[in-house]
Amino acid sequence: MKLGHDPLPISPAAHYAVGGLPVDDIGRPFVKDSGEIFPRLFAIGEVACTGMHGANRLASNSLLEAVVYAARAAEHIISNPPTKHQNELPDWRADGLDNLSEHTPVVHDKNELRQTMTQEVGIVRRFSRLNRAARRLELLGQEVDRLWRESIPTRSIVELRNLILVGQLVTEDALTRKENCGLHFNQDLVKE
Ligand SMILES: Cc1cc2nc3c(=O)[nH]c(=O)nc-3n(C[C@H](O)[C@H](O)[C@H](O)COP(=O)(O)OP(=O)(O)OC[C@H]3O[C@@H](n4cnc5c(N)ncnc54)[C@H](O)[C@@H]3O)c2cc1C
Repeated sequence: MKLGHDPLPISPAAHYAVGGLPVDDIGRPFVKDSGEIFPRLFAIGEVACTGMHGANRLASNSLLEAVVYAARAAEHIISNPPTKHQNELPDWRADGLDNLSEHTPVVHDKNELRQTMTQEVGIVRRFSRLNRAARRLELLGQEVDRLWRESIPTRSIVELRNLILVGQLVTEDALTRKENCGLHFNQDLVKE
C-alpha cells in the first residue's frame, strides 16, 4: 500500500455545534446577561446550548438530549397552552425590489462559506487562519447584504445571510478564546 493512500479515508469532522442558543431546563432560549426569556420560542436539539455537556459533548448524548428537552417542552406547552396574541410581525418587505435574476452568486457564496468554515474554522485552529476566515466572511457578508437590499428575499438568500452571520459569530467567539477547553482547540494556545 502506498503511503498517503488510505483504503478507508478517515478525517476529523465537526458534527455538533457545542453552542447555540442558551436555553433553560425546558428549552426556552434566554438572554445570557439578563436571564430574560424569549416568549413563545423553544430551541431544541443541535441549535440549543443546554450546558449539559460542558465544553464538550459526551459521545452519543445529543439525540438523547434532544428527546428529553422535546418532551419537557411539550409537557410545558400542554400545561401552559399559549394564549392568542396579535400578529406583531412586520409585513414581509418586497415593495420596489427586483426579482433575483442571477442565482449563481448565491450558490458560489454558499460554497465559499462552507469551504472557509471547514478549512479555517475547523477542528484544529490558529489565530492567523481565524483572522483570514473573518476577512473572507466580512466580504461575503457585504456581498449578500447588497443582494439582500436589492432583491425580493428568497429562501436561499435568507439562509445564506443567516449562515454567514452564524459563521461570523463562531469565528468571533473562537478568536476571543484565551484557552483550549473541551473540543475548542487552537494550536497557538498550546502551552509549552
Ligand atoms: C456524522 C454525525 C454523527 C452523529 N452521531 C451521533 C450519535 O452517534 N449519537 C447521537 O446522539 N448524536 C449523533 N449526532 C448528532 C445528532 O445527529 C444531532 O445532534 C441531531 O440529529 C440534531 O437534531 P436536530 O433535530 O436538532 O437537527 P437536524 O437533525 O439537523 O434536523 C434539522 C432539520 O431541519 C431541516 N431544515 C434546515 N433548514 C430548514 C429550513 N429553512 N426549513 C425547513 N427545514 C429546515 C433539515 O433539513 C433537517 O431535517 C451525529 C451527527 C452527525 C452529523
